[in-house]
Amino acid sequence: MPWYRKLHWQIIAGLILGIAYGLVAAASGWGKFTDDWVAPFGQVFLNALQLIAVPLVLGSLVTGVASLSDLSKLSRIGGKTLAIYIGTTALAVTIGLLIVNVLQPGKRVPEQTRIQLQEQFSDDAAARTSEASVVEDRGPLQILVDIVPSNFFASASSNRNMLQVVFVSLILGVGLLQLAPDKSKPLLDVFESLTALVIRLVDLIMLMAPLGVFALMARTITGLAGDDVGQILDLLAALGFYCIAVILGLFLHMSITYFGLLKLFTPLKIGTFLKGLAPAQLVAFSTSSSGATLPVTMERCEEKLGVSEEVSSFVLPLGATVNMDGTALYQAVAAVFIAQTLGMEIGLGGQLTIILTAVLASIGTAAVPGAGIIMLVIILQSVGVPTAGIALILGVDRILDMLRTVTNITGDATVACVVAASEGQLGEPNLSEDADRIRSRR
Ligand code: ASP
Repeated sequence: MPWYRKLHWQIIAGLILGIAYGLVAAASGWGKFTDDWVAPFGQVFLNALQLIAVPLVLGSLVTGVASLSDLSKLSRIGGKTLAIYIGTTALAVTIGLLIVNVLQPGKRVPEQTRIQLQEQFSDDAAARTSEASVVEDRGPLQILVDIVPSNFFASASSNRNMLQVVFVSLILGVGLLQLAPDKSKPLLDVFESLTALVIRLVDLIMLMAPLGVFALMARTITGLAGDDVGQILDLLAALGFYCIAVILGLFLHMSITYFGLLKLFTPLKIGTFLKGLAPAQLVAFSTSSSGATLPVTMERCEEKLGVSEEVSSFVLPLGATVNMDGTALYQAVAAVFIAQTLGMEIGLGGQLTIILTAVLASIGTAAVPGAGIIMLVIILQSVGVPTAGIALILGVDRILDMLRTVTNITGDATVACVVAASEGQLGEPNLSEDADRIRSRR
């Protein structure tokens, strides 16, 4: 098959053309045309992925847990997975803090720019802060209450409630493990079949990925620039050092933590891992949603990287919901950046508080676009930085959201490979062509 028919090249082409079109559209004042005639294709692609996310989490986690044959295996794999998730997130926050303290991007923002940014984004900042106040006005154990839904169908009706869906799936799986096989089999067959169906649907939805990614990128650019490309450049100039700090942190975390884990604990080559995962990373980049990307991440891990279904169906849905290293790293950099810009110092105690709250906040962050900045409000409050300060970073948040979402799903895939290898369940990678694969299944 010629290279240009490979899925990841087609998505990359969609992405580059989408950015190029977005810039031309912004420069030519085609914002309304883009909203009416281009953006809907991106929304359709995003909706289709989100549509299958809840059934996929439900089906795969129930079968994932129930197929672990006994509770001790569940607690072994579960314990390992959670320990690596939390450990890597704490490392991500630490890397973020080191970089922001060394580079001090907040000290490079001129007074004039600070005032201008705060005025320009104050309304938007107030809206996010009030969204967060729903989260923050609650006792420390409220998170437990939030995880256990009183009505499953209400939870399943929104991708923001994924943690509740994860909880219900886990207890259903554990319950099924304890039933006699003749009682559990019919229901298990249904969940297994549901998972297989959803993974098949991913193939169909991904046929639309190049167009969907084109439209999403075009809309993102026109959304950022309005009808004036100069606006993006102005924002990047004002917040350039802050963006560099976040991007450098994400890059270091990927290359040190993830590639280190892969090298130490799996036989996978980094190039193979990246090639296998590339389409999922591109979808994460253009959708800014690890929840929407989950179906693609699962498909790539199982079919390309050789992660067994047993491991991937447990580790990945859990990771998409609770493991957000990119988000946690960004939250740490952003909190210190805002403090620096406002002329405040955060001492050692404050930095330790940031590590703790960022790890917890990233667990509670929904796997949807822009969720990270809402949870950032809680971190700012924990260290006494004015929450209105998020106005300073709102302008470039979408760009950083795309990158942190890529890191989030790469972290999930890394942990899936590491856990699979440790359980002897990482098969040979298979990077053969998508079309061949689809054909061979018919
Ligand atoms: N968009 C991110 C995700 O879905 C969450 C965030 O806003 O950081 O992984």
